Amino acid sequence: MALDDDHDLDGDLPDNPAKYANHGCTANAELVARDGRLFLVASRPVPDGAEILFDYGFGLAESLGHPCLCGLPGCAGRILAEPLRSLSKKHLRRPRRPRP
Ligand SMILES: [Zn+2]
Repeated sequence: MALDDDHDLDGDLPDNPAKYANHGCTANAELVARDGRLFLVASRPVPDGAEILFDYGFGLAESLGHPCLCGLPGCAGRILAEPLRSLSKKHLRRPRRPRP
């Protein structure tokens, strides 16, 4: 989670509570930056025990090495910002031309 060009929260660190939130193609929270702090804000009710999911907002190049494992309906198959997911699906469905 990037706060700015110099600061981010690394969810891979064992003592960072950010490790409990992950990317999901159907998010139930959004990341909000305010006054130099980051907040995960529920965008719809989150049932007890449900995983907190938000859109990592990765661009196309960033998404290439990051498969999405959310398993939700409409999963793009890779971690990709919501506005780009439909473009990615169209691209992936395009039939390949046969080789001469
Ligand atoms: Zn997904």
